[in-house]
Amino acid sequence: MNERIKPYLLETEPYYRPAGREIELFEAAYARRMPMILKGPTGCGKTRFIEHMAWRLRKPLITVACNEDLTSSDLVGRFLLDANGTVWHDGPLTTAVRFGAICYLDEVVEARADTTVVIHPLADDRRTLPLDRRGELVRAHPDFHLVMSYNPGYQSSAKDLKVSTKQRFGALDFHYPHAEIEVEIVMRESGVDRETASRLVGIARQSRELRGRGIEEGISTRMVVHAGGLIAHGIDPHASCRIAMTRPISDDEDVLHALDGFVEAHF
Ligand code: ADP
Repeated sequence: MNERIKPYLLETEPYYRPAGREIELFEAAYARRMPMILKGPTGCGKTRFIEHMAWRLRKPLITVACNEDLTSSDLVGRFLLDANGTVWHDGPLTTAVRFGAICYLDEVVEARADTTVVIHPLADDRRTLPLDRRGELVRAHPDFHLVMSYNPGYQSSAKDLKVSTKQRFGALDFHYPHAEIEVEIVMRESGVDRETASRLVGIARQSRELRGRGIEEGISTRMVVHAGGLIAHGIDPHASCRIAMTRPISDDEDVLHALDGFVEAHF
């Protein structure tokens, strides 16, 4: 393996609790190098899943958190000035393509439209990346795999993926886990006992029912893990829930009142 991507290998197994057949299905998609979209709400385990899969497949994982300022140059690379003149620097996508890593574009719809265009030739049979500024066409290493995450929940139509992009990918659906599984995850990730984890998960599940009625998305597994972590640290449950679960998701007094009610009912 090339030295450039070795640092991206995961040395220890990231804990991932499967909810269904996603591990088997992803392995098959990887074997065919079918580009994949991981769909689902924020904080439901998509990133943890890809980390786990990269570890399982023993492939380096290069993650790019996408945002509205991310340009195609941030992905593919650019010429930079140094003491010897202008030198080309590969971006994270180019590094993954050249040397054979899994490239994970997190929240890809946040990126500007021109960034999704650069991935098209990589996501079909061509498996190439044109570096126009450098006049180079990079052929993807056989191990290269393209994966992106996408939250269909709070996207306006202006921020949807193009059909031509979607059609190049396979997609796996992710949801917040079933209650028993979520309790297991929260115990394991935060260190709280089963009783406390069940109460926290109960609050989160109630909050998810408010989706579309004052909040865009309910309390995620990530937030429940954070609240559990504060409790395990010795903070009382009310303050922990307030800091990690209720206050971050809404500024609306009525919604906060409802969420506080859920906390009162559980602790
Ligand atoms: P996403 O990428 O979907 O926004 P993450 O993968 O970062 O969410 O998940 C947030 C946190 O929730 C993780 O750090 C982990 O603690 C926990 N988590 C969620 N689902 C799982 C799962 N199935 N197995 C293990 N941990 C999980």
